[in-house]
Amino acid sequence: MIRGRFAPSPSGRMHLGNVMSALLAWLSAKSAGGEIVLRIEDIDPDRSREAYALQIMEDFRFLGLNWDDGPHWQSRRTDIYEEILAELAQKGMTYPCYCSRAELHATQAPHASDGVFVYSGHCRDLTQPQRDELAKTRRPALRIRVPDETVGYEDICRGPQAQDLARECGDFILRRSDGAFAYQLAVVVDDAMMGVTQVVRGSDLISSTPRQIWLHRLLGYEPPQFAHVPLLLAPDGRRLSKRERDLDMGALREKYTAEEIIGRLAYLTGVIDRMEAVSAAELVQTFTWDRVKKTDIFVPDDLF
Ligand code: GLU
Ligand code: ZN
Repeated sequence: MIRGRFAPSPSGRMHLGNVMSALLAWLSAKSAGGEIVLRIEDIDPDRSREAYALQIMEDFRFLGLNWDDGPHWQSRRTDIYEEILAELAQKGMTYPCYCSRAELHATQAPHASDGVFVYSGHCRDLTQPQRDELAKTRRPALRIRVPDETVGYEDICRGPQAQDLARECGDFILRRSDGAFAYQLAVVVDDAMMGVTQVVRGSDLISSTPRQIWLHRLLGYEPPQFAHVPLLLAPDGRRLSKRERDLDMGALREKYTAEEIIGRLAYLTGVIDRMEAVSAAELVQTFTWDRVKKTDIFVPDDLF
């Protein structure tokens, strides 16, 4: 059985792109007779607000997107993340990184394809006396050692994918220097423990997927399937962002019914051929991934 998920970060009102990913996750699971887990990704205390989480759930209900399990709150699962970190430390997989932000930018080469910084490995092999010295003035982040290994997988939307972990990803952070657990750790542990078998999310996260698959396997889990859905672009080619208030759920609900919002999104993604108001439930019968557009989607100015 397919277990999909909604995994919103409660850092603001849901935006058109978030709704599109959620709609496709829901349709994919429901059209196969599956379930949806709701997980609130409030692991970053600086950016998360409970009020946003409640608003997001209310927006899902308004849209007719229900869930079968949850809400699970990441902020209440820190004991679990702590335990997994201890397990990885025990295996010698993690190490403290004392680099400051400025040092990271000075020593890391941005990876050519997407401008993402790959960690140089500066703190990988520090001696214990060196660590003790640095610990007097700095609080370290915790990184995991990635092997020289290429991780490949077949994306439901984007086809075959591969990443050379050492060269394109580098040792990545599991716990920040302020003590907060990293998204990469929490998402893998939670997807595994919540029985998620299919992850549908925006293509902005596609470069995180190989490291997540690798971490699943390292922890003895079976990785889920992944579908990275197209991003929505403004007519000038820029990504629609949360800052553009005009397309958040607050603004949309002032102008449109749930069926009008779902219908427009279904039309934009290729799930239906004509723009018409339709409920999410009505789309379940005919949904197939074959119809979903595979490249980023321009949202015409006059559509919303
Ligand atoms: N919480 C993330 C977000 O809202 C999504 C993470 C994921 O789908 O893996 O952007
Ligand atoms: Zn470092």
